[in-house]
Amino acid sequence: MKQITNVNIWDLDGTVINSFHRVQPCLDKAGNLDLNRYLSEACKHELIVQDSLLPLVELMRRQMDAPNTINYIVTARTMFKSDYYFLRKQGLRGRNKDNIQVFSRDTIHKFAPLSDVKHIYNSRDADYKAFYFDHIIRLHGREGVNYTMYDDHKGVLEKAREYGFNAVDATQLNEMLSIGIKLASEQFLDETIQDDLDIDYLNQRLSFAWQQLTEEEQDYYSVKYPKLAQAM
Ligand SMILES: [Mg+2]
Repeated sequence: MKQITNVNIWDLDGTVINSFHRVQPCLDKAGNLDLNRYLSEACKHELIVQDSLLPLVELMRRQMDAPNTINYIVTARTMFKSDYYFLRKQGLRGRNKDNIQVFSRDTIHKFAPLSDVKHIYNSRDADYKAFYFDHIIRLHGREGVNYTMYDDHKGVLEKAREYGFNAVDATQLNEMLSIGIKLASEQFLDETIQDDLDIDYLNQRLSFAWQQLTEEEQDYYSVKYPKLAQAM
């Protein structure tokens, strides 16, 4: 078994997958998923396959090939066949024999005593995800292991920080990466869309975007991302 020094925990919706069109109507004011509404309205196959990817997915893919690194998906979703189909189709699961483990609301019973399942299932996102933080820490320990959570939910990021994890605000980072893509596509008009999938090129554009920001803006992002340079 490989020595694990980096554990990455990935949220899906709003972090690496743009499912805004079907999930957004199911969020409450604090950004928590209304599970009943989500299950009845948002989980239809024809809607799931309309989801698209966010720029951060390239970092996720790169991390899937990184040495001494293990990746987990911890999502507020209840995962159905269509959800797994989408992940496989996008190379986010079952890739290079790296069958990235998915922790979701429907897998709680595998790791929690029966008497706790209902309570955890109905918890707000941050407390629900904390259940899986505990589980993942039990798997890998604390000694010499660096944990990083990628999420777009402020409460989850706060919880991750409480656990001593690096907490990467996916909304901000996707915005940064999008600025890079936009500026770079204006700069290099002859480049094809295909290059969006190239990590080195993406990084070039990110660094290009970074150089276009004012010192004030750089400062703003630096405060939010003390770990950005390391993560990228
Ligand atoms: Mg999310």
